[in-house]
Amino acid sequence: MIPDDVVERVREEADIVQIIGEHVTLKRMGTDYRGPCPFHQGTHPNFSVSPKKHMYYCFVCKEGGDVFTFLTKRLGLDWPGAVRLVASKSGIEIREVESQRSGPDPREPLWEVTATAAEYFRRMLWDDEGGQPARDYLASRGIDRPTADRFGIGYAPPAIGFMRSHLQTLGFDDARQIAAGVLTQPEEGREPRPRFRGRLIFPIFDSVGHTVGFGGRLIGPGDVKPTPTGRLVLDAASGRMPAYVDTGLNIVHVDDVAAGHLLAHQHGRIGERYILGGEDVTLQQILAQIAGVAGRAAPRVRLPYAAVLPIAYVAEALSRLSGRSGRVTLEGVRMARKRMFFSSARAQRELGYRSRPPLEAFADAIAWFREQGYLR
Ligand SMILES: [Zn+2]
Repeated sequence: MIPDDVVERVREEADIVQIIGEHVTLKRMGTDYRGPCPFHQGTHPNFSVSPKKHMYYCFVCKEGGDVFTFLTKRLGLDWPGAVRLVASKSGIEIREVESQRSGPDPREPLWEVTATAAEYFRRMLWDDEGGQPARDYLASRGIDRPTADRFGIGYAPPAIGFMRSHLQTLGFDDARQIAAGVLTQPEEGREPRPRFRGRLIFPIFDSVGHTVGFGGRLIGPGDVKPTPTGRLVLDAASGRMPAYVDTGLNIVHVDDVAAGHLLAHQHGRIGERYILGGEDVTLQQILAQIAGVAGRAAPRVRLPYAAVLPIAYVAEALSRLSGRSGRVTLEGVRMARKRMFFSSARAQRELGYRSRPPLEAFADAIAWFREQGYLR
């Protein structure tokens, strides 16, 4: 617990204009500062920040509070996390009483990065011209703005440099962005790149509201890299994989996983885990289906187990989750690697989750690979 007098002191000494100013463009008006309200997405300067009262207030949507309220509502931090974040920005040391941990959680600097990145993705989705395809996509799935905001959905634009430099101007250097997982470094000496590009972003919160990771999905089939699973589909479709091992995978369409994320947010019980999978299929069946869609003969020879990367589509989607499991979390990567068959029965029962047949996932993936020139 952080003692009340310390909370009070942090509130008093915090530069509320500077901290809120990282998220809202504020201009001085008399003794206060004004800007567009981030809570009702206003365009007029109805959002007021008072350094004297240490409060903010929106004259339109009546959203108001102190610097901690702002951070909890806007960045998804929990209350102590917001107090600690503001304290560290203000150079105030916090000694907690009867705390289970001594000192701040070592992951806090990373949460700050992911929370800021989440905010950036949200702005890209709603305020940026480039966010139009993502907005259209959400509209086509019947997801309106209030629903999307409730889940903190954002959009990572395809451009390479913007998020990185935006975070840099806020003081998060490359090393910290990489540690937080929002940037990746392909090899030593090469320019770091954003982990998420051209896809919707679903922030994943832990039990106290820290943004701990992201489950991202491509818009449309869109497997740009491609992923190991995409590579398998490509190889099989182009006849480059003449053999198979007798293993099995759980195959799920990425769109179903995305829909499952939303269902989990809407109907999931806190503390429960839901597997968003598809159908269990043997690799032999998979290769036969892909060959059928691609118009080729199915492969016949067996390969040593390790020659194939047996990672299901779902594992690919799940492996993007980093750090600790989320509040509404998906079980998967480890499990999918060991036993590649698993059941989504709980998600079906409790969330109303449904997945389409694997054949449709293969057909969509192959059609997309063809369109993009990966495959003739
Ligand atoms: Zn407002």
